[in-house]
Amino acid sequence: MTIDGRTEIYGIIGRPVAHSLSPAMHNAAFAALGLNKAYLPFEVEDVAGALTGLRALGIRGASVTIPHKQTVLPYLDEIDPVAAKIRAVNTLVVSGGKLRGLNTDWLGANRALAEKLRLGGSRVLLLGAGGSARAIGFGLLEAGAEIVIASRTPEKGQALARALGCPWLPLAEAGDHRADALVNATSVGMDPLAETMPVRKEALARFGVVMDIVYAPLATKLLQEAAAAGCQTIDGLSMLLYQGAAQFELWTGQTAPLAVMREALLAGLPQ
Ligand code: NAP
Repeated sequence: MTIDGRTEIYGIIGRPVAHSLSPAMHNAAFAALGLNKAYLPFEVEDVAGALTGLRALGIRGASVTIPHKQTVLPYLDEIDPVAAKIRAVNTLVVSGGKLRGLNTDWLGANRALAEKLRLGGSRVLLLGAGGSARAIGFGLLEAGAEIVIASRTPEKGQALARALGCPWLPLAEAGDHRADALVNATSVGMDPLAETMPVRKEALARFGVVMDIVYAPLATKLLQEAAAAGCQTIDGLSMLLYQGAAQFELWTGQTAPLAVMREALLAGLPQ
């Protein structure tokens, strides 16, 4: 990559950001298309200051990650309607000094699931009630799917279910449910919980498709058992890739080079 006086700058705002795979993914994509753009990590504590800086420096766009997906909201000039429902933004587009916030996490999840399932009218059991489950839940509603939420902490799960207008189950009862797809949006299965599963393995045959958004490890225990039970499986790299592809397309107006981006993500994942 050559940086010169015309290089357009993008980046990721979060804390911590040192572990983020986004710089490798976006820089690989910019290079593959010969774009004079670069993407940098910005470890940010002062969100208001960072966003003023973004405008002042002419930075063209940014990803937003934990803990700033909600804290950026009051400082934006415009919020995409679905991001407003989710109440979280993971993407900023800067144009004419104005900041527009969007959420591509739900777009990534929908695109990943849509490779194996027609979303409209499908029944999806969504595990978890955290930030990712909220984005995926609103995204599934956009696509016309029917959702049931199952999660560990009742108050949190019931609050999300109310926001989505869908039923809630305790996580312990998730295995008694039947649906076209099961989506794990809990941290169960992620290192150091890599030997654990959010539902018992005997229940997996109740779901045609099983998607895990955990990507470290990539072949989670849930996905291994789901494949053994005959389910179609989707790993956490797909959502990660497609949310990044949607960001790339918002920033450049060009089709994202998926193979290059996938390769960059795979190279950055812990082996
Ligand atoms: P979060 O907001 O902290 O939510 C975590 C959820 O997991 C909560 O519902 C929590 O339960 C549940 N949970 C955690 N430990 C549990 C346990 N031992 N048993 C049962 N439930 C448990 O996290 P998040 O940002 O939504 O992320 C969730 C996972 O998705 C992480 O592993 C993250 O790496 C992954 N992720 C993947 C992508 C992707 O693109 N593939 C994107 C974002 C995140 P309570 O409801 O009880 O709090």
